[in-house]
Amino acid sequence: MSAPEHLVLVEHDVEGHATGWVAADPDLPQVRVTDVAATRGDGVFETISIGSGHPQALAAHLERFARSARMLDLPEPDPTVWADAVRALADLLADHEEAWVKTVLTRGVEGQPLPTGWAYGTVSGDFRRERTDGIDVVLLDRGLRSDAATTSPWLLAGAKTLSYAVNRAAAREAARRGADDALFVSSDGLLLEGPTSTLVVRRGTELLTPPAALGILPGTTQVDLFAAAPDWGLQGRVTTLTPSDLTAADAAWLVSSVRHAAPVRSVDGVESAIDAELSAAMNGFLRRRLR
Ligand code: PLP
Repeated sequence: MSAPEHLVLVEHDVEGHATGWVAADPDLPQVRVTDVAATRGDGVFETISIGSGHPQALAAHLERFARSARMLDLPEPDPTVWADAVRALADLLADHEEAWVKTVLTRGVEGQPLPTGWAYGTVSGDFRRERTDGIDVVLLDRGLRSDAATTSPWLLAGAKTLSYAVNRAAAREAARRGADDALFVSSDGLLLEGPTSTLVVRRGTELLTPPAALGILPGTTQVDLFAAAPDWGLQGRVTTLTPSDLTAADAAWLVSSVRHAAPVRSVDGVESAIDAELSAAMNGFLRRRLR
């Protein structure tokens, strides 16, 4: 049986304000070939996990959606309309323990003033192996200095844009090297993020993650984990990290909305310790989030 798929189109007026949403058929063509989403990757998106019908970290995702839109000078997405659209899709996926909804806002059809918006939802893949056994990670130079977001904001470092071809290429390079995922490093040697995930490291009783100011996406999963950290006797802290900090860490994870917390079991072929108990606690917490 094929996975259930659901789609809504978010409609806009000529001022770029969202006016509402309508259900649409995901099996029919809905986006024009001249939409700059297709021709230039000119738009922004979010992927929100849905746990048994509950959108998780919805407000944080919609805030980041708006932040990305601002970075691209796109119209501000109306949080009420988009939240309503996501909840409608989440309701349709309520029979599934794990699902996801992707929201997309593009600059629209070339030469026309209307943005294009849609939200699409389906069930998640099975990430039990990654969450339990862990993932092999390789470090990849992103080729940008850690201050690129400040010196060159037009590079859109840290915006969740539709131009993810580079992130996909990094994932393929990781696979070529026999690994499951990549972790980007700035050209001046600071750990950044995965192509679709945030780095979290445990050092003693601290959970550490690199600052968004390095031109990385502020992760919603990481924020929720840091809020829960005291329940596990831990304290979250944002700080710069180097590859040797990763080698010396007690444990590390790549965390993200749909895969949740994937413990890192090796870096560039060198084995690293997995904290199985904390990984299970993190993933249990992430799966059960009601907001
Ligand atoms: N960094 C990048 C580049 C991402 O694409 C993602 C998510 O897809 C993340 C980090 C993790 O963000 P979140 O935890 O909000 O899913």
